Amino acid sequence: MITFNVGPSKIYPEVRNYLTEAYDNHILSISHRSKEFDTFSQKCLELMHEKLQIPADYTILYTGSATESWEIIAQDIVSKSTVQFYNGEFGKKWFEYAHYIHPETIGYKYNESEEIKLNSYNIPSDIEMLGFTLNETSTGTKVSDKVIKEAKSTFPNALISIDTTSCLGGIAIDFKLFDIIYGSVQKCFGLPAGLGILILSPKAIEKAKTKNITGRYNSVLKMVDQIQKFQTNYTPNVLNIYLLSRVLAQITSISDINNLIKKRAADWYNFIPTLNGFYLHITNKEVQSDTVITVGASEENIIKIKKEAKIAGIELGSGYGSLKNTTFRIANFPAITDAEINQLKKFLSAI
Ligand SMILES: *Cc1c(COP(=O)(O)O)cnc(C)c1O
Repeated sequence: MITFNVGPSKIYPEVRNYLTEAYDNHILSISHRSKEFDTFSQKCLELMHEKLQIPADYTILYTGSATESWEIIAQDIVSKSTVQFYNGEFGKKWFEYAHYIHPETIGYKYNESEEIKLNSYNIPSDIEMLGFTLNETSTGTKVSDKVIKEAKSTFPNALISIDTTSCLGGIAIDFKLFDIIYGSVQKCFGLPAGLGILILSPKAIEKAKTKNITGRYNSVLKMVDQIQKFQTNYTPNVLNIYLLSRVLAQITSISDINNLIKKRAADWYNFIPTLNGFYLHITNKEVQSDTVITVGASEENIIKIKKEAKIAGIELGSGYGSLKNTTFRIANFPAITDAEINQLKKFLSAI
């Protein structure tokens, strides 16, 4: 079975060996306060800085999931309210979590086929934070750097916060544009689920200090403190941190990965319109996601293709939320090989 699921998604085949290695080296039983843990955790953080080109003064934290980051941001960094832009289910969930903690949070739903037009919204000039979903996994859209740069210049004091869960590790991100960046490893890192990553700029940490929340198990200031020793304040997913350090050592630079993913995305966007009975859910090139290709069809065609794909040994990503019955999604993640892509294209052409 090959999988184009968008998360959890295909894991790198090398992970099989890394798992055995972890078992054989007794990594599964070590203390998260031990020298052994510190060594590969430090390696993991250094490789993340190096391979993803994360600025040296940005702090990388381990979390349990991207969902946990939604709460951490609202509880520990935001004092009163933020503006959350969304066009799909994940951005909407982030808004809902933020709104639950800060009822003054403003959510703006925008058209999935268009770029966000910042000047058409009523945004308080002293807004604390603007939240965007860089890659909305449910619709298959992205937010361009142009929008982010405009947000930064219009609201120079605001923190810019971004959900990168389905593109971190797959496309090159200009981290300097953002203060809060988060994701998890079961998408573009080709790893099993259960580990999140939260990256903070010095400005974001300063903001957290003004709020000074320290009493929660996942208080960000406690986490920032512990990570100086490459550690966490609770027992983390030690195995996944080890696996991440091994996958990061294996992959090439993010610019190479970025080029590969963008080329494959362009191929998918050219290929889908050649099929009978299927169409691109997002046709505006400016907002088409590079890592999640959403394909639309009639409900009958969606049922048929998913069934036949299974028989052919191919797992497609289902549509999500309100798009469940009228779309399927194709993960364009780095762990997927050219041979697998060709197999899927051959299958789709024959349908
Ligand atoms: C998958 C996903 C999430 C949720 O990730 P978890 O690690 O399951 O919390 C959040 N946002 C986006 C954009 C996603 O694709």
